[in-house]
Amino acid sequence: MIFQKIQVHLGRRLGFVGLIVLMALVLFILQSSRRRSSLISQENPDIPIIQDVPRDAIPPLDFPKYESADEATWLLDDDVVLGAEFNGDARVYPLKILNWHEIVNETIGGKHLVVTYCPLCRSGIVFSRELEGRLLTFGNTGALYESDMVMYDRETGSYWYQVGGRAIKGELFGKKLTVLPSFLITWKDWRSLHPNTKVLSLDTGFVRNYDSDPYRGYDALHSPPAFPVSISDDRLAPKEKVIGLIIDGVAKAYPVRLAKGTTLRDEFQGRRIEVVGDEEGLSAQVFFVEDGNRVPAPTVATFWFSWAAANPGTLIYGQDSAHSSQSSIDLRVPVILHPVRNSGAVSTERTDENIRRLFAKTQSVWDQANIVFAVELQEIRLDAANSDEVKKGNYRELYSIIPTGNAFHVFFVRSLNGNNGTAVGPSIALVADVTTVNDFRATAHELGHLMGLQHTLANPNRLMYQGVNGTTLLKEETTKSRSFVASLSLL
Ligand SMILES: [Zn+2]
Repeated sequence: MIFQKIQVHLGRRLGFVGLIVLMALVLFILQSSRRRSSLISQENPDIPIIQDVPRDAIPPLDFPKYESADEATWLLDDDVVLGAEFNGDARVYPLKILNWHEIVNETIGGKHLVVTYCPLCRSGIVFSRELEGRLLTFGNTGALYESDMVMYDRETGSYWYQVGGRAIKGELFGKKLTVLPSFLITWKDWRSLHPNTKVLSLDTGFVRNYDSDPYRGYDALHSPPAFPVSISDDRLAPKEKVIGLIIDGVAKAYPVRLAKGTTLRDEFQGRRIEVVGDEEGLSAQVFFVEDGNRVPAPTVATFWFSWAAANPGTLIYGQDSAHSSQSSIDLRVPVILHPVRNSGAVSTERTDENIRRLFAKTQSVWDQANIVFAVELQEIRLDAANSDEVKKGNYRELYSIIPTGNAFHVFFVRSLNGNNGTAVGPSIALVADVTTVNDFRATAHELGHLMGLQHTLANPNRLMYQGVNGTTLLKEETTKSRSFVASLSLL
């Protein structure tokens, strides 16, 4: 049985697919009449932001009311809730209500925060609303990105990808929100931790059927996300419940299932971690252990598919590490991104924003090796001779137009004779407008070549596998690329 909201989502989804088909047809007609058009850039959309329902059709709560734990008789022991506590002020937000509102702007124990929940990812995250001295409040764009809720801030209108915790469009593009500690756990567990908790009241000011769950059945372990995502990482089932933690840019997922009825102990990025599961395997709490005390960790509780899409190459507790979990210092590598423009047929149709967005994801792939690209964007124009060489597939001539040996250079061009990307050692890579794999992955892969890595044939999940969307690095590859860039005299 399909419930109301899923129908709304899927209905919109079909609408979107229909639109893509229509656009492809338009493009075909335009191309066959040899007319170029700015519509071409739609042919290779980055991960699309899909407008699913109208803005704030899922209304955020700005003036939430609360009741006591004793008053909340409508909550059942095993109902899942998102709870947060700051300075002795404990509040809890039942999914029964969050399913219909998704965003609560609030201040708890003096902390300005936003409680967020996307049913399509089962993602419960509490973020600080403070950003670089500015106080933000959030609404719901009604759009989806990586099958996840996209919020907007009312101050600048920038779009925020919830599970990624970062702005993907607008003035604040690229900024990150700070994740605050929270627990996505059962009501009985939260209540026993915080008997004096305040409970979000059913009296929200909106009329909704809070007793009905429009997402029932959506969490079937092997069922796909409601919308396409850019990375499918089959190390876990798509709807496996995980709790994600990022320390110093390194991401790790703790499968809730592994903590069922027990406590997992881990050492990650130099921190001691405990993951306390409940008896039913419904939820788990992640703590830092500091001086023998448990301190709630700033976590992202979500489905695996969603965590994996937001954090390519994430570590998984209980699986072989994609790389060493020992902390290592960041290595900075200068990279200059060159959109090739005004250069005839080789000119890229990518916008600067598209390239920045692409490269932000490229960076997140290389986060797993703690390699940080110091990026500059420099549009470049090729003279007729050079653009001719590029057209012919002779990319080495590009060395004549870059300064020697102070950075990696990535050129964005219209096409590479059918290749997604190519590396022209020692410091030039090129990426085509239209790629058959994720373009950021192609970029990350070519940078891998520039950092001394060769192809692997063994495993399509890996970054250096040829021709697919894998993004993980082995420990050996991490070590190799790090020592390669560390040895570059120019850095
Ligand atoms: Zn390659």
